[in-house]
Amino acid sequence: MIMRIRGVVLPEREERTFWVDGERLRSEPPAGAAAKRVETVVDGGWLLPGLVDVHTHPGAESPDDRFDEALLRRHLSEHRDAGVLLVRTPGTAERMPGWVDTETELPRVRSAGQWLATPGRFFPGAGRDIGEDELAAAAVEEATAASGWCKVIGDWRWDEPAVPLDVLKATVDAVHAVGGRVAVHCQTSEGSHNVRLAHEAGVTVLAGTDTFPCGTVATESQWLLRAGMPAEEALGAASWTARAWLGLPGLIDGAPADLVAYDQDPVAEPAALGQPKRVILRGRIVR
Ligand SMILES: [Zn+2]
Repeated sequence: MIMRIRGVVLPEREERTFWVDGERLRSEPPAGAAAKRVETVVDGGWLLPGLVDVHTHPGAESPDDRFDEALLRRHLSEHRDAGVLLVRTPGTAERMPGWVDTETELPRVRSAGQWLATPGRFFPGAGRDIGEDELAAAAVEEATAASGWCKVIGDWRWDEPAVPLDVLKATVDAVHAVGGRVAVHCQTSEGSHNVRLAHEAGVTVLAGTDTFPCGTVATESQWLLRAGMPAEEALGAASWTARAWLGLPGLIDGAPADLVAYDQDPVAEPAALGQPKRVILRGRIVR
């Protein structure tokens, strides 16, 4: 059986038809399709290349909990069932087990190794505690051991200074030099921005939950909308924009067959975003 999908692709707003060929989407019937039964599994509606949560910490629900692989599996399943087919995990208590990169039933994971915490910043013992002079080397180590990312706790208490700018800059330079990327935690007014102003200044704003239950990034997209982002960009922040930022294409010929489908246009009806009618991951129907 070959699956066929038809619908209006966002953000292009173009009606397209795809065939699922293994784990890929094709805009023409794959070779040999004529001899097989073709089943249309999405017929109309709106199509997104999956939802994305760029800030989630599956595997432990609080800084005091031990990282647990069974819980990791459950959290990733919750993301998938809600149509979240790609996640970035900026920091965990332990590095991700190898199976997250090969498990075909679960969302794609881009991980950042252990949280890197310098003295006085973060929950003691929850991440990897290091001196400021060790930060650059540790960041390179985590990014190399994980899927290219590392996570630095940039600030913590509102009345304590953030990681000094020269230390952070040297760390970012060192990680970029090995082809990695740096995620930085910031929560003080010194370290963070107003969402709408950031968007207007050209900063790429993406949706991440940083909380539980997993699978709720649709709500985060609605918060971005309420904070003043235009509706289509607030939606892209939880889907195609985040996916491109993590290196994956939208719904085009040859793209991974990851897709969520809706009866209603989720730009016009943001409340529909959390309830996709159809979820397909790596060419397999999730629901
Ligand atoms: Zn976080």
